[in-house]
Parts: sequence; C-alpha cells; structure tokens
Amino acid sequence: MSKLQPVRGTADLLPDVMAQHRLVIDTARRTTARYGFQEMATPIFEFSEVFSRPLGESSDIVTKENYSFADRGGEMLTLRPENTAGVVRAMISGGLTQSLPLKYFYAGPMFRYERPQKGRMRQFHQIGIEYLGPTDALADAEVISAGARLLAELGVLDQCVLHLNSLGDAASRAAYRAALVAFLQADESRLSDDSKRRLAMNPLRILDSKDPGDRDILQSAPQLQDYLNAESKAHFSALTTALDTAGVAWMFDPLLVRGLDYYCHTAFEFVTDALGTQGTVLGGGRYDGLAEMLGGPAVAGVGWAAGIERLAMLAGAKTPTAPTAPKVAVLSTDADADIAAFRLAEMLRDAGIDIDFPTTGSIGKKLKKAARAEIKLAIILGGDELVKNNVQLRNLADGTQSEVMMDDLADVVAAALLAP
Ligand code: ATP
Ligand code: MG
Repeated sequence: MSKLQPVRGTADLLPDVMAQHRLVIDTARRTTARYGFQEMATPIFEFSEVFSRPLGESSDIVTKENYSFADRGGEMLTLRPENTAGVVRAMISGGLTQSLPLKYFYAGPMFRYERPQKGRMRQFHQIGIEYLGPTDALADAEVISAGARLLAELGVLDQCVLHLNSLGDAASRAAYRAALVAFLQADESRLSDDSKRRLAMNPLRILDSKDPGDRDILQSAPQLQDYLNAESKAHFSALTTALDTAGVAWMFDPLLVRGLDYYCHTAFEFVTDALGTQGTVLGGGRYDGLAEMLGGPAVAGVGWAAGIERLAMLAGAKTPTAPTAPKVAVLSTDADADIAAFRLAEMLRDAGIDIDFPTTGSIGKKLKKAARAEIKLAIILGGDELVKNNVQLRNLADGTQSEVMMDDLADVVAAALLAP
C-alpha cells in the first residue's frame, strides 16, 4: 500500500452520491410500505453455512465471490453477498414461522469478490423485499408490481424492460436439467471453460452465459418451458394475467435463470440498456426451497433485490439531489464574542434553523466563504453587539444589512428565509 486508498472495488459515498443513495432508499422504503413491507436488517456477516448450504458449493457466488474468514474464535464467517438467505435465517432463528405471512424491506451493503467495473463493485448496496409464506402467483405479482412501482417513482421505469421466465417446480426443473445436460454434453468441447465447469455442477446457469460460443450452441438447446408440468404452467399464467391486469409490461425471456438451486417458478429482471453491460437493475424470483435448505420448516418465499449504485446512476441525471447545506451562518468578528456566537448558533438550531458556524479565519474570510457556500443570511456578532444585545443581519444575496435585537432574531431569520 503505497498511497492510502480505498480497497479495490469499494468507494466512499461522499455527500452528492450519498444523497442519491438516500433518495433511492427512501423512495424504496415508502413505495414498498404501500404494499405492507416493513423495514428490517440482518447482520452484515453470518456463519458461512448460511450462504454455502443453500447456495450450494457450486454456485458462482460461493466458488468465486465470497468474502469468508475465520474470526478470532475460529468461527467461519462470510460477509453477506446478498440478503435473502439472511432474512430467511432470521425468520427461522427468530421463530417467526408462526406468524406468516411476513413482508420485509431491507437496505444495506453486500460484498462480492468480483472484477470491479462501472456498476460492479466489491462492496455495493442493495435494497430488496422478501415476501415469506404465500405460494400463490398473486404474491409474485405483488412483488413484481412493487418493483415496477419503485422504478416508476424513481422516473426510470421507461428505461427498463421487465424480463420474465418460469423455472417451473422442482420436478419440471429436474426433467429439464437432464435434457439440457444431455444436449450440452454432445458439444462439451466447444463450451467455454466456465460453462464446462457449470455443466457438472450448475448446468442451468449456462443459459445465462455471455460467451458468444456458448450463446451459439444454446440457440438450439431444449427449452425450459417445454418441460413445465401443468401446475407450473398454471402458476406462470396466473402471474402473467395478474401483471397484465395491473398494466405491468413484461417480456418473456426463456434464457433468464437465477443461478441458484432453490429458485423455482418465477424469475424476473428489470434490465436497462442505459448503463452499458451492467444492465440488470432489479432482479428476483421465487425461492420456495430455501427455508428447508437452511434447516427450517418449508416456507415459501418470493422477493427481489436491486443495486442502489445502478439505480442511482440511472435516476441520477433526473433527480437534482442538492444536499441541503445551511443557508444561515453565525459569524463572530472577534475572539471575545466566540462563545456568545456559539451559544447563539445553538439557540437558532433549537428554533429549527440550520446554522453554519465557521470557527476559524477573520470576519472578511468568513464572509467570503459564506458567499461561496451560497449562505443567504450572515448573522454577525462582535463586542459592540454583545454590549447592545443585538446582531448585524446581512443579506448576502442583496447586500442589505440591519440591526436585529437578540430576542427577535429567530423570528426575523425564519421570516427572511421564507422570503423569495
Ligand atoms: P449480475 O448479472 O449483474 O452479476 P446478479 O445476478 O449477480 O447480477 P443479483 O444477485 O440478482 O445480481 O443482485 C441483484 C442486483 O444487485 C443486481 O441486479 C444489480 O443491480 C445489483 N448488483 C449485483 N452485484 C453487484 C455488484 N457487484 N456491484 C453493484 N451492483 C450489483
Ligand atoms: Mg453477479
């Protein structure tokens, strides 16, 4: 480490960016609350098993992307790469399976050891919802509608396309998996190295390959929807009917899979072409097998997660996110008045007014900096004012100045801030 830098793939969220993140999080909390989702949070690390058990040793996240370490007590821990497993773990360990359905919203950092690029970080941030309990397709429809509504509220829905697929139930997927493996084995030597590895461990994920050679082979691969049984077909058609009724536009995408074994039935992603190759902003699906894989009772679930960085980039251009700096400054002209000025600043804050209180430099420098910081009102206080129990109130926008008695100050300032 020659220079002090953030770790590769991590970033500081300075106020401009933080304000965009805040907007995304606040909008998501408000929008999902309209569907009854309530905010909760799980720890950012869990026993490694929480992720390795359900994700399967073969999943990309576990094989390549996890931050795992032994703590000082020798426990194997993993920084959460996603929050669904943590939320389901919380449901099981909190004994909450007695009070289904549960509807949770979360926001927070996730960690994946990936190759950093624009929109792909090693510490990134997600918002998400999990709907635990219901097995019916209307729950999927609600979850997807909440995602669409969030994108609409952020003003980016028109830049996104909803891709939708059905993975079917476990029986349908097993039948398809066998057919896909048989098909791909015939061409195994032409597959990319990643796909060769997945063929044995996680063949459905090959459908998702970005490798041109793989894509070519996949053109004539067997189609998942030809292997769906009647129950799986009914689930999908109930979902699409509900989405159509609600006016949520969608596109059938037979190659859309979620990599993990516990997903079933519904898989979906909102994709944009406005962010280059990192085009998936919000993705999710149904995960009825997850709770059991974690060692709990069978509890169905459906949810999504969205990348805050990607949403902020998409929405950023549209949303002026002026961080709100104070418009009023209290400036002391000499050291003898500093304490009184500090007390005055506190008194005005008590009255609900945001106050900047610079503590260094001459009064000339303080005034210059205040002007640069677009301060509207400067409250100037020195020895004379202390004696007379008043202040000089200078309007930095028009240069006018007046004396205001200390007792009237909060009201005068509040009124002046309201004036155009
Ligand atoms: P991708 O195909 O882009 O790798 P994914 O399938 O791994 O995405 P999910 O696990 O479904 O993504 O996570 C949901 C969302 O979180 C993604 O749609 C994306 O917006 C965001 N996301 C995932 N990984 C990252 C990352 N490394 N950096 C920034 N955002 C990410
Ligand atoms: Mg990924």
